[in-house]
Amino acid sequence: MKEYDVVVAGAGPAGSMAALHAARGGLSVLLLEKRAEIGAPKRCAEGVSLRRLREVGIEPDRKWISSEIIGTTMRSPGGAVLKVDESSEDGEVGYVLDRHLFDKHIAKLAAEAGAEVRTRAACRAVSAEDGRPVSVAVRGIDGEEEIGLGCLVAADGFESQVARWAGVDTSLRAEDIDICCQYLMSGVDIEPGYCEFLLGSGTPGGYAWIFPKGPGIANVGLGIQASLSSKERCARYYLDRFVASEPRLSKGSILEISGGAVSTCPGFGPTVYDGLVLVGDAARIINPLTGGGIYHALMTGMHAGRVIAGSGKAGGYTAESMAEYERLWKERIQEELDTNWKAKERYVRMDDAEIDRFIAKAASFGLKKVRPEELIKVARTQ
Ligand SMILES: Cc1cc2nc3c(=O)[nH]c(=O)nc-3n(C[C@H](O)[C@H](O)[C@H](O)COP(=O)(O)OP(=O)(O)OC[C@H]3O[C@@H](n4cnc5c(N)ncnc54)[C@H](O)[C@@H]3O)c2cc1C
Repeated sequence: MKEYDVVVAGAGPAGSMAALHAARGGLSVLLLEKRAEIGAPKRCAEGVSLRRLREVGIEPDRKWISSEIIGTTMRSPGGAVLKVDESSEDGEVGYVLDRHLFDKHIAKLAAEAGAEVRTRAACRAVSAEDGRPVSVAVRGIDGEEEIGLGCLVAADGFESQVARWAGVDTSLRAEDIDICCQYLMSGVDIEPGYCEFLLGSGTPGGYAWIFPKGPGIANVGLGIQASLSSKERCARYYLDRFVASEPRLSKGSILEISGGAVSTCPGFGPTVYDGLVLVGDAARIINPLTGGGIYHALMTGMHAGRVIAGSGKAGGYTAESMAEYERLWKERIQEELDTNWKAKERYVRMDDAEIDRFIAKAASFGLKKVRPEELIKVARTQ
């Protein structure tokens, strides 16, 4: 049986970052991706801030950027508008990525650092001894293979099964799941440079977005709370209604349809076990208010890879020797997850009239940035 120090299941941003940093730390690393192509199909609106990319050591590169973002527009159901050019303070604000290329870029960095990358290679089962993963069954192009490991990284995204196979309960309440549907649309009349959010009862428990990808082309999507979704009134039903109601969108063409889900819980734990680490969406580490998780995936993957590398050199991979990982990500983001989860719980209970008043009030505040923490401050003054 082939053996690696670290096997990473899932080559999204979290898995590739974990593989990159574990390989840089001198470990033998296998990065598995069940799909034929890393980064595809895209299930993301692709918005990310420059500040947060830089925080995890990634410099923007035109090759994987679709468009630059300088500000945010938020609209209430009754027509109140909050529009902020956020570039006035510190220049560039963020990007709408091309995740097909961005995800490949991070996986390529992992490969250059020495990780072995295999696509169309699905982790199918986890074998454990004394409660600790020792090998995974992998189905690849050439059939089934059992692969031995020192540490397993569950980086298999929202639908994560790998952690569950290893004995960890990652289930979520329906109230802590948003079901999403998104169209990549061309021929739409959108304002370049601004990510737009539309709130209210047209998207029960969630919101709609328009993220510009280039002239006349945008990711147009929405998420609704799973507990408020039904077979007839699903995310796609609300998205079609939204597109039809907006003349600037309704004449456009749909080039791509994608679905997906995000967790909107206040985090989860533990994320470290003997021989097992959970990262990114698989660890439910994602902004529960916005559903933004690219940064969270990159950040948790980075810390996980580094801590695993340190633990491996010390001959470990025990929960104790890797506990630093959980300390690091919690120190960075737990408070924000808690605050944003409370804000989400409040938001889903607001009716359209309250949202109208809230957006009108936020618009009068002279905000320089539209970040969840700024909006929460506005809400607290109501
Ligand atoms: C509609 C939608 C819009 C979004 N928009 C934004 C946004 O604008 N900005 C933002 O920051 N976040 C956004 N998110 C969230 C963001 O996409 C995720 O948080 C992010 O992709 C998480 O990265 P990850 O690496 O943890 O998981 P993923 O990106 O989901 O990667 C997991 C990978 O694991 C692979 N995999 C799964 N099972 C196995 C297995 N058994 N074996 C091997 N491989 C496996 C999958 O194929 C996948 O490639 C959005 C999400 C959705 C659904």
